[in-house]
Amino acid sequence: VSSVEGCLFCGIAAGEIPATVIRESERTLAFRDINPAAPTHVLIITRDHYDTIGALAEGDPEGAAELLREAAAVAEAEGVGSGWRLVSNTGPDAGQSVFHVHAHVLGGRPLSWPPG
Ligand code: AMP
Repeated sequence: VSSVEGCLFCGIAAGEIPATVIRESERTLAFRDINPAAPTHVLIITRDHYDTIGALAEGDPEGAAELLREAAAVAEAEGVGSGWRLVSNTGPDAGQSVFHVHAHVLGGRPLSWPPG
């Protein structure tokens, strides 16, 4: 599905909802999280709508690969290449709040393990 009515991140992908976009590729968009959990907190989304990272990998494997490449490129560009984390919360129990696939790139502070 390329776009879902009422989906926040479809709105950002369409340019209808403002976001601080820092990088774009054919299939993806990277923008700053509105409520950052670390000095660097960027979300990578696909332009097409998939609910989860697993659904993306099933439906568009090259899109999933592009999302990962773009995440690494964002980390490099943000200067956090020496230590960053990629998170894709899946399902309500993991805290997924926007059901349009996105990966969080987090960095710029020590990141403890296990996560909360
Ligand atoms: P998740 O809870 O893993 O689904 O992540 C959703 C993320 O989207 C959260 O970290 C929110 O802070 C972020 N977010 C929600 N609305 C916006 C927005 N309009 N622009 C940028 N980030 C947003």
